Amino acid sequence: MTRKMAQNIIALVYDFDGTLSPGNMQEETIFRAYGIDKNKFWAKSQALVRERGYEQTLAYLRLLIDDPVFRKKPLRKANLKKLACHVPYYPGVAEGYFDQLEDFMKTIPEVAECGIKLEHYIISSGLKEILEGTSIRKYFKQIYACEYDCRGGRPVFPKLVINDTNKTQFLFRINKGKFKLSESINQHMPEEERRIPFRNMIYIGDGITDVPSMTVMRKTGGNAIAVYDPARPVPQEVKKMVAEKRAEHFAPADFRPDKLLVKILHRTLKKLIYSIAYRSSSDRSSDWVQRHM
Ligand SMILES: [Mg+2]
Repeated sequence: MTRKMAQNIIALVYDFDGTLSPGNMQEETIFRAYGIDKNKFWAKSQALVRERGYEQTLAYLRLLIDDPVFRKKPLRKANLKKLACHVPYYPGVAEGYFDQLEDFMKTIPEVAECGIKLEHYIISSGLKEILEGTSIRKYFKQIYACEYDCRGGRPVFPKLVINDTNKTQFLFRINKGKFKLSESINQHMPEEERRIPFRNMIYIGDGITDVPSMTVMRKTGGNAIAVYDPARPVPQEVKKMVAEKRAEHFAPADFRPDKLLVKILHRTLKKLIYSIAYRSSSDRSSDWVQRHM
């Protein structure tokens, strides 16, 4: 017996560093508080990858526990949350972008007619503890990011590592509505039972680390947009992502109204809204015919 879902939720899935925020979230928070030179830290992290065979993300997570600076003064979960107030955002992100998108939804009659809802998600290789403390936290249904197991408030071991390729697991969690890591996502689920079909998803990311997620989007009928620092020219990486059809659109990461990115988002949302409305009226027609045969 299949449990048909209304499939009237649209998901906007964001990478964080370089997408909603310039730079890496550790830099303006942890590094600033500890007086760490970011270039030296990332070089040390790269050395672990090169010389000791570490996976990229695990390398930095280890340093945040094991580097002499952190051995002397360990990170504390509560402090990470407090440091989140220093996370910088691209224009518009913390100045109304999320509310303005909701207002835009209200202007389309089909949204109310079909009960269409918008949900926001973050999938990041940064630190969940920092993201949980950000001022924009309330707008997100779920935040997936690297997490530490903490004892006495201090990180002792990474309990969740998110890197470029396993980011895609979380797209499937959003797709199937199985948000908790304890819930298996490997069992087959018919398309009509999935909470948010891929075609109702918009993935926004900034770089090479988003390629696996964008590829999943493109192959499943989802939508992908590449963004870049508005203060810089279009990076080669972004041009390549579009040329190789990993992303359909690209725009500066400027989330203010009337900017290109928001225009692209509005257009994509309209496409999804009308397609949901179209499907729901076609479902109603076939239900009626079934009843009157
Ligand atoms: Mg990024």
